[in-house]
Amino acid sequence: MESAEIRRRWLSFFEERGHTVVPSASLIADDPTLLLVPAGMVPFKPYFLGEVKAPWDRATSVQKCVRTPDIEEVGKTTRHGTFFQMCGNFSFGDYFKEGAIRFAWEILTKSVDDGGYGLDPERLWITVYLDDDEAEEIWREKIGVPAERIQRLGKKDNYWSMGVPGPCGPCSEINYDRGPEFGVEGGPAVNDERYVEIWNLVFMQYERGAGTGKEDFEILGELPSKNIDTGLGLERLAMILQGVQNMYETDTLRVVMDKATELTGVRYGAAPASDVSMRVVADHMRTSVMLIGDGVTPGNEGRGYVLRRIMRRAIRNMRLMGATGAVVQQLVDTVVDTMGQQYPELITDRQRILGVALAEEAAFLKALKGGTNILDTAVTETKAAGGQVLSGDKAFLLHDTWGFPIDLTLEMAAEQGLSVDEDGFRRLMKEQRDRAKADAQAKKHGHADMSGYREIADASGETDFIGYTATSGESR
Ligand code: ATP
Ligand code: MG
Ligand code: MG
Ligand code: MG
Repeated sequence: MESAEIRRRWLSFFEERGHTVVPSASLIADDPTLLLVPAGMVPFKPYFLGEVKAPWDRATSVQKCVRTPDIEEVGKTTRHGTFFQMCGNFSFGDYFKEGAIRFAWEILTKSVDDGGYGLDPERLWITVYLDDDEAEEIWREKIGVPAERIQRLGKKDNYWSMGVPGPCGPCSEINYDRGPEFGVEGGPAVNDERYVEIWNLVFMQYERGAGTGKEDFEILGELPSKNIDTGLGLERLAMILQGVQNMYETDTLRVVMDKATELTGVRYGAAPASDVSMRVVADHMRTSVMLIGDGVTPGNEGRGYVLRRIMRRAIRNMRLMGATGAVVQQLVDTVVDTMGQQYPELITDRQRILGVALAEEAAFLKALKGGTNILDTAVTETKAAGGQVLSGDKAFLLHDTWGFPIDLTLEMAAEQGLSVDEDGFRRLMKEQRDRAKADAQAKKHGHADMSGYREIADASGETDFIGYTATSGESR
């Protein structure tokens, strides 16, 4: 089943069941606490917080999402993209646990001829939160899932809050068993690549009190009006329904990998390292196009830096596969052609998107030249002084003047036998960010900590681009 059909079925299934279809919001979050939208619920946040009354009892959407912290997973796990689409259904004080569970089961297992996705119920494994007996009972008694395919997980995976006083509650997730070729048995609690998580059902049931972060807080009581937020990864379902090994081989991404093959002569499947590069290129070029489409332009901070880093990684990986000249035009065209079927504004906006992307490619190729000179000099000096570590200052300079992402500096220094003082680099980056923040603070007012969305602490495109602080001492 093609991605476009998965999306169409999703929306019509929920529309037929009383949900208003809400178009995807822009990736640029209308929310000062977020850089980019990491989950389908973000546009509905004011309703969930009770700040504004929802105009409908039920809604459904397929929301564009970007999760920069997942960048290191791309191409290595089978299931993480920096861009993906989250299919969601939402209830604002209307149906609750049983309703959400019944809808999920119905659309997943209903036959393809009948408008569903036709998944084999015996391959579906369920997780519920530690003390959520109610959810487990619904799955067992009302749906008929055998007890041995229901597992309990703790706060990290199966509890939702926003990290601040307000709504919170347990989650229940649906996972698909891809079979023994993906590893040992034992359910999603044991193996998350074989039992791939496809759908998270969030039951906003309680009011949380103060307390720190995601896991350590008190529950004050039941919410007067309970809500449902769910998110299913479209690409993950596509991977299952299309019978492919990973999300990059699904219809909308595969064509980008094929284009990369055309441009480099490297065949997908030829070697593990080039396969990772190929997947990174497909994912990152798609993310770049979607970000530019929503108005992001490359820069050295915030969203602009997210885009710059992602695009430069894509280009760098093309070069690792042997490309020497410009490659971005054909890759962008391919993404626009395929994603444009679902997002027609990409097609009307093609020239602008190409213009931004080509300018960034040219800037990067130039930076590679200029930065390489600085780097080579610094390497020579470091070695002459008997050192083995390139200073944080130099890494910062490369970042600041030539837009070198730290992973690029690490990689190029390693090629010449040096490591890099990453701590020093991060300290300087932090100082720079703090200065920028202090400036912004002077202009702006309040700031709310939203550090706990569905998985926000570790999986969102939050205000601080944590790509700087995440370990990235690897080469792709
Ligand atoms: P995982 O544990 O696999 O990282 P998650 O628990 O972080 O996923 P949720 O925050 O629960 O994901 O988001 C809801 C759904 O969105 C997931 O069940 C999955 O289908 C999809 N999803 C999440 N992150 C990604 C990603 N990086 N790429 C593709 N799909 C994703
Ligand atoms: Mg998870
Ligand atoms: Mg999850
Ligand atoms: Mg995650």
